[in-house]
Amino acid sequence: MIQQVTSLTVRCPICKRETMQVSEYTYSAPLAGNLLLSISKCSSCGYTYRDVRLLESKPPRRIIYKVENPDDLRTLIIRSSSSSIIIPEIGLSIEPGPASYGFITTVEGIIDRFFEVLEAVCNDFSNKKSCEEVRRLLSDAKEVKKPYTIIIVDPDGTSYIASNKAIIEPIANRKT
Ligand SMILES: [Zn+2]
Repeated sequence: MIQQVTSLTVRCPICKRETMQVSEYTYSAPLAGNLLLSISKCSSCGYTYRDVRLLESKPPRRIIYKVENPDDLRTLIIRSSSSSIIIPEIGLSIEPGPASYGFITTVEGIIDRFFEVLEAVCNDFSNKKSCEEVRRLLSDAKEVKKPYTIIIVDPDGTSYIASNKAIIEPIANRKT
């Protein structure tokens, strides 16, 4: 059940006109609980921004999920825009930034995102050999040829992995 909670017009960070429409919705997800979805769109320049996060934020934490078999690829993941995602076995991470979106996806969706990032980086990167190596590691990860770990570093406590196998560790709130 999706319910609209707010709608307001603010100044667009890109074109600076007062034409950015922000809409927020709450959504009660069967596994994750109450979520807050927000969609912002500027009617002048078309800039859009989306986020999704847990409605009730938790203390800063690290969520660790071991992917061990192909069923684990379907595990639901909510990554709020302030969180990083790391796969240490492959040496890749997605870091939060001003343009980073929150999204709802699955483990497989995360691997696909890493593929997209890799292709973007490798397009103007001379070391084709290491690109090839990472591409192979990601392909193996998509078939779960061997176990690996997905870590979400979640400074606002607003991300979620919908599995009772996920381990949650508190982290000290440090400002860098
Ligand atoms: Zn704009």
